Amino acid sequence: MAKEVVFVSARCNNCDRTVGTIVQAEPYDRWLGGGVNVQDVFPRLSAAEREVLIGKRKGWYLCDFGCWDEVLGGDDDEDDDEDDT
Ligand SMILES: [Zn+2]
Repeated sequence: MAKEVVFVSARCNNCDRTVGTIVQAEPYDRWLGGGVNVQDVFPRLSAAEREVLIGKRKGWYLCDFGCWDEVLGGDDDEDDDEDDT
């Protein structure tokens, strides 16, 4: 039986890069409906791919190309002021 898939993409709030992943439609819809964890619905997706889905749903996403670390900070790099106006 054929499985329907959907392309889900999210845009990084930091660098505007758009990252997408292809997932099966049925579990994706189920997850969007709520009440299930993304890792239970898509156990085979990588953490980065799950972030795309989560970011898309939240409307806030950070890509896996350095922005996650850049925005949320490493462990010892807390002292640079954000001055991007
Ligand atoms: Zn980014």
